[in-house]
Amino acid sequence: MQFADLKLIEPLLRAIEAEGYSAPTPIQQQAIPPILEGNDLLGCAQTGTGKTAAFALPILQRLAQSGGPRQGGLRVLVLTPTRELAAQVAESFTTYGKNLGLRTAVVFGGVGQRPQMEALRRGVDVLVATPGRLLDLCSQGIAPFGRLDTLVLDEADRMLDMGFIHDIRRVLAMLPERRQTLLFSATMPPDILKLANSILRSPVRVEV
Ligand code: AMP
Repeated sequence: MQFADLKLIEPLLRAIEAEGYSAPTPIQQQAIPPILEGNDLLGCAQTGTGKTAAFALPILQRLAQSGGPRQGGLRVLVLTPTRELAAQVAESFTTYGKNLGLRTAVVFGGVGQRPQMEALRRGVDVLVATPGRLLDLCSQGIAPFGRLDTLVLDEADRMLDMGFIHDIRRVLAMLPERRQTLLFSATMPPDILKLANSILRSPVRVEV
């Protein structure tokens, strides 16, 4: 199978080619079509399988096809357990989306808040965040979720292991209910399935 078989648009195919990827990985083959169709998704995949591109590519395509960049409207939120992963995921959105003119920002703890707040004020399409810092920023009046239509929980099992469940629930309470939600986890213990059941609507399940 080729990336072109996945009905990805030209600007994304060019970015993929520039990265030197020759073919989609199994998680990409399985996850990209249902995400493009707007389904919720429960993905069981480890890091290293290409899971970031499996959600970033179809999300970018849906953003591009629904009008591209918009002023003042955060459309996509990705929650990750660590700052390292947040930075990597944001980098992937920037790399794959470079021909689309969309704006990506990343927020995480342990560094000054001001540059992150300024980036949010300028307006972004995609925000990648760790839960604690996101809540800190929200409590200071930055709650740009009115237009949000896509949520990704990445490495959800690690987020629960790190004690983020209450933070995640607080973030969820601020988001529009009508949205596409994708949950990725390397393992599927009962607490992940419980979370998945409570936030996903008729999810497509993919496993690699
Ligand atoms: P991830 O599982 O998202 O952490 O990705 C692991 C690594 O695989 C990253 O360095 C990606 O750049 C790379 N990668 C993602 N998709 C592909 C692909 N289709 N072909 C080759 N490398 C890829």
